[in-house]
Amino acid sequence: MKFLDPRITQLAPYVPGEQPQTNDFIKLNTNESAYPPAPGVVEAVEAAAGRLQLYSDPTCRDLLRELADYLAVPATNLFVGNGSDEVLAFCFQGLMGQGVAYPDITYGFYPVFAQLYGLKAQVIPLREDLSIELADYADFKGTIVFANPNAPTSLGLPAAAILVLVEADPERLVIVDEAYVEFGGQSMMPYVKEHANLLVVGTFSKSWQLAGARLGYAVGQPALINELNRIKFSFNPYSVNAMTLAGGIAALKAREYHQECLAKTIATREWTAQALENLGFTVLPSETNFLFVKHPIVSGKVLYPALKERNILVRWFDKPRIQDYLRITIGTPEQMAQLLATLQELVNE
Ligand code: PMP
Repeated sequence: MKFLDPRITQLAPYVPGEQPQTNDFIKLNTNESAYPPAPGVVEAVEAAAGRLQLYSDPTCRDLLRELADYLAVPATNLFVGNGSDEVLAFCFQGLMGQGVAYPDITYGFYPVFAQLYGLKAQVIPLREDLSIELADYADFKGTIVFANPNAPTSLGLPAAAILVLVEADPERLVIVDEAYVEFGGQSMMPYVKEHANLLVVGTFSKSWQLAGARLGYAVGQPALINELNRIKFSFNPYSVNAMTLAGGIAALKAREYHQECLAKTIATREWTAQALENLGFTVLPSETNFLFVKHPIVSGKVLYPALKERNILVRWFDKPRIQDYLRITIGTPEQMAQLLATLQELVNE
């Protein structure tokens, strides 16, 4: 097509995990919460729906106030967007003037954003054990971005190690995508106050039961936050809709429920990991709401379609180094029991 920008025709878009339109799947493929939204969220969303003739608040003031209170940071350190995907997109769009570096195996959207915005990207391999080697980023001059804990590996880095990277060069921006941090990782949030070159990205999709609402955030010093707002207000001032704002506020008010869901997910993860090891799987030590596992004989490439045929959806990545693995979201105890029974049959066949 003549009118298309060649960069767009060459784009290889992100492929999201399947969202089946029927309820007969055990859905363990996109790292959503196994539990419904907190009490009060549906009512808040319904009340906001009754005022949909009005635009949403472009400053997201009430949500920022509630989030600031929860994270114990000033609201001026916060930015919110339409899922952390949008927050990350704004980062790639505007905060990577000197290029970007990220791991070869990490969240699959980073290379897509890099391509979309025409960035020079340096892709740095994980270690043999699939952990991130931060020393390999030492000489990079542009912006560094990685997920901690990383996806799909589920492995986390200690905050102290990341801090060394941040402090090594105050002129270089480090963006830490903490989508899964509440499930056991170490957050870099406490270091934002002291470090103007650190931006932490979070989401309501995993631990807050709001994946469908699309709400993500960034924590950084006001200078960075102002730049993110400059991009947002040059694109769509209302990117967070009124129902999502209301749902986010209600979720943040239900802190006990949030803690309960986290505790249940972590407990389920631990016994599921043990049970998978008993079946012979190698299970990477997870600090997330998913497990990255492989079986010594039956590869992920074989198990993924076999599970799907039995109405269990997990994630398999057709990528070098991780083709043998499956990424399994932690569901309810009942869902995990069903998964384990099915896997037992499959690996014994
Ligand atoms: N970062 C990582 C590491 C993720 O796995 C995901 C979820 N796919 C996201 C960001 C995006 O999450 P969301 O846009 O739902 O906030």
